[in-house]
Amino acid sequence: MLIFPKQYLWILIFMNGCRWQLAADLVNFGGWLKNMNTKGQGKNNVNIVTLGCAKNIVDSEILLTQLKGNNEDVRHESQKDDANIVVINTCGFIDSAKQESIDTILRYVDAKQNGLIEKLYVTGCLSQRYKEDLRKEIPDVDAWFGTNELPQLLNRFNVDYKHELVGEWQITTPRHYAYLKISEGCDRPCAFCAIPLMRGRHVSKPMDALITVASNLARSGVKELLLLAQDTTYYGIDLYGKRSLAELLRKLSDVEGLEWIRLHYAFPTGFPLEVLDVISEKDNICIYLDIPLQHASTRMLKIMRRGTTRKKTETLLHTIRDRVPDIALRTTLITGHPGETEEDFEQMMDFVLKSRFDRLGVFTYSHEENTHAFSLEDNVSEDLKQKRADDVMELQQRISFEINTSKVGRVMKVLTDRVEAGNLNGRREFDSPEVDNEVIIENNQNLNNDAKPGEFIQVKITDANEFDLFGKILSR
Ligand code: SF4
Repeated sequence: MLIFPKQYLWILIFMNGCRWQLAADLVNFGGWLKNMNTKGQGKNNVNIVTLGCAKNIVDSEILLTQLKGNNEDVRHESQKDDANIVVINTCGFIDSAKQESIDTILRYVDAKQNGLIEKLYVTGCLSQRYKEDLRKEIPDVDAWFGTNELPQLLNRFNVDYKHELVGEWQITTPRHYAYLKISEGCDRPCAFCAIPLMRGRHVSKPMDALITVASNLARSGVKELLLLAQDTTYYGIDLYGKRSLAELLRKLSDVEGLEWIRLHYAFPTGFPLEVLDVISEKDNICIYLDIPLQHASTRMLKIMRRGTTRKKTETLLHTIRDRVPDIALRTTLITGHPGETEEDFEQMMDFVLKSRFDRLGVFTYSHEENTHAFSLEDNVSEDLKQKRADDVMELQQRISFEINTSKVGRVMKVLTDRVEAGNLNGRREFDSPEVDNEVIIENNQNLNNDAKPGEFIQVKITDANEFDLFGKILSR
């Protein structure tokens, strides 16, 4: 039975009072240890472990591409136990994400102490944010890297960054869809957010380079491209002096082979309405929009420094739905931000009820040092934050059930993702991978057995629940 080393307890305490519970997670680590064997000499065998959001997956894919491009034997999230070098790409967004990152680092520190791996490198947001403290507290990690230190990380493998690989991309997602990060960092002043502390100012990636990557991905079989950034609607302001997301979308929609282009992380304030014209004009741009709103009470939107009001938000949602009928809207809200009153929360509930989002996620506020909100009193209790989040999700489940039920009987275009429990799981253009609904196609027809992941098929929706749709294949 693995006994958790006492010296690591202090890490938990020093992490600025974040409330962590750890022991249980490590108990099952013992089993993992048994089947690891000691590493021999010779060529490196690298395993990249990614935590956090899809933007981190893109960073890991760039590292994977560079290491492979330098003839390193490297895998992503390998389940095999033969790596001698492990690189952990961490997340440092909020408490729960930081906990998962520390848990993962400590697991591999134990593997190193047991001689099961030789080198352990840590990169990503948690490392960017707490590097100096972590270096002192967890000396078993061989090196810590920030979010903009890929060349330094590569130097540890005695290889250099290869610019000629910029257009190449080793994806870690299923071959038919891929993430494309169109910019890094953020210039927004949101009070609660630590991301600019970890990712820096907004930097758009050149449009030509993005088109080159998209073309290479499409040639390699990618049919669905998901556009990511901290704020996709800010794209181009730094590089071209104007909002250029609409222009980028137009150019991407001309890339042969891309059947679905999906837009994530739009920001409501200053939303470039011309983007809606491109979405409604171009058949291969999904009528789908992820637009995190965070709150609905005008008083709270002011405290959160979101630069908008409830009225302006509702006007924007009406305009989006007017100009792109049937568009699926995803949003994210935060409960328990400093200053949130019961009346503010009732406004959020009323807004959710009236806005009827297709998808909605809720975070409880996390008191993050060095953010503007950290100077405010964290005056909503953890229990109340969680209760409010549960109330919002309970309401949203009812709305999702009604929306999903209204799809029964319809025939819809589905992109198949994987086979699970004998069924084929896929998505419509209204569903983003990993975060949204799926269409579960029962395995009861001959046609079914032939359909493979990565195919577009026509499906008749036969049933629904609050999370998923169910259907039968009509044609392929
Ligand atoms: S837009 Fe606001 S919430 Fe989003 S990354 Fe930027 S500062 Fe954070």
